[in-house]
Amino acid sequence: MRRFLLLCQFIAPLLSTALYLGTASTISLEAKKLSAGAETGKPLAMSSNDSTNEESGDDQKSAGKIEKLKQREATLARLLAEVRLEKLATLRSRPLTIGVVGFGRFGQFIARTFSKHGRVVVTSRSDYTDIANGMGVKYVPLSDPSAFLSEGLDVVVFAVSILSFEKTIQDFAPHFHKYVSHLNGQPGPLVVDVLSVKEHPRQVLLELLPKECDILCTHPMFGPDSGKNGWQGLTFVYERTRIDGVILDPAYERSFHQLTQEESGTADEMAGSFVELGSGKIHTVHENSEAHVEGMDRMERFLSIWEEEGCRMVALSCANHDAYAANSQFITHLMGRILGSQGLHSTPIDTKGFESVLKLMGNTMADSFDLFYGLYKYNQNSAETIRKLKVALDDVVDNLQKMEQNDNSSPLWGKNGTQNTNEKETGKNHQENLVSHL
Ligand code: NAP
Repeated sequence: MRRFLLLCQFIAPLLSTALYLGTASTISLEAKKLSAGAETGKPLAMSSNDSTNEESGDDQKSAGKIEKLKQREATLARLLAEVRLEKLATLRSRPLTIGVVGFGRFGQFIARTFSKHGRVVVTSRSDYTDIANGMGVKYVPLSDPSAFLSEGLDVVVFAVSILSFEKTIQDFAPHFHKYVSHLNGQPGPLVVDVLSVKEHPRQVLLELLPKECDILCTHPMFGPDSGKNGWQGLTFVYERTRIDGVILDPAYERSFHQLTQEESGTADEMAGSFVELGSGKIHTVHENSEAHVEGMDRMERFLSIWEEEGCRMVALSCANHDAYAANSQFITHLMGRILGSQGLHSTPIDTKGFESVLKLMGNTMADSFDLFYGLYKYNQNSAETIRKLKVALDDVVDNLQKMEQNDNSSPLWGKNGTQNTNEKETGKNHQENLVSHL
């Protein structure tokens, strides 16, 4: 559906441009006639002497020539529109070739699904030839990035650890530069990251990749555990970061959803429009740039894979993602790790709540510690989340202690499980015991 709507979006402007040029030529001829009079400084009706007749004849000749040129221009625009449509249709009929860099736990998980939608080539530090063969995808060693890029990749997805991302891109960057330099001005591959933090990869990709590579920053908010039965209803966050060298302004929130009709132009331009970083210029899917139209189309085709798999698509700036994620995803991993380090395990009397706790521990501990550390180190909001959690723990314990201070009754057991006879003394001991353990 997304693809069909996009095709309609492309056809309409191309044809209307051609039609506009045809109509404009007639209008401009009339304007030319009027302005000819204005330029000579004489009223149009004043043609009584010979020199005026000559001038008027020259004007008519030149107007006739302009009219012919405009008609040719309109014909060429129509032809160009037809060629572009045919080119897009040809591109669409060919499935995407997707490269995945980092064929670990998550890389394998997404590559398996990508292989249902297109050709997949993977590369990784470790040798995954057997797993790749079993999945029906091609494996190329990471030691040979040029061989990987020369596989005719439309999209390159980086699924390496957060910690190794910058170094991996640094190593790849010269190969991308060399690769696009041989493309004679044609756009390079679309580069996508799937890191669980977003500001960091956004900055690295913008800084190190050649401008011929479009950039899409994404975070599938699920993994091999939560997505083992399919991706239906699972959240997929993305920011269209750069298309055809134009960087989207992440501060302009409405770019991520929809500009208003007043902002973007026509009603059908609203969906694909965004505001350029720096200049504030509004770009639409109807740009008079083939690279923009093709880049946008390729990005939409890649996003369609997630959409077709049933993901809940959320367009969001990388900055906002990190702010939300610190207080949702990071705190989940943090609690899972804290609970995991207590050595909790199932008992014969587990409540539903405790079953959820064990599940949380299992899910978070299954991810690598590198991933957890990456969430902490590369999300500038994570330290604040830890600080708030510590304050909250202190507050809760303070409340318990205050209540206990005002409480005259106390349990019958004492320290070390011995029975107490003095209730007041036991309450005090109990509190001291609690405090000394914090
Ligand atoms: P991870 O521990 O974060 O990353 C493992 C991957 O990174 C492997 O492919 C590994 O390659 C590669 N790698 C590690 N150190 C490397 C280095 N120094 N140089 C080159 N490659 C290196 O575990 P993961 O779960 O597979 O996550 C991969 C990415 O997906 C991360 O960025 C993570 O944030 C993101 N993500 C994960 C999940 C999830 O649920 N797990 C969900 C959404 C997004 P080798 O295997 O070849 O050693």
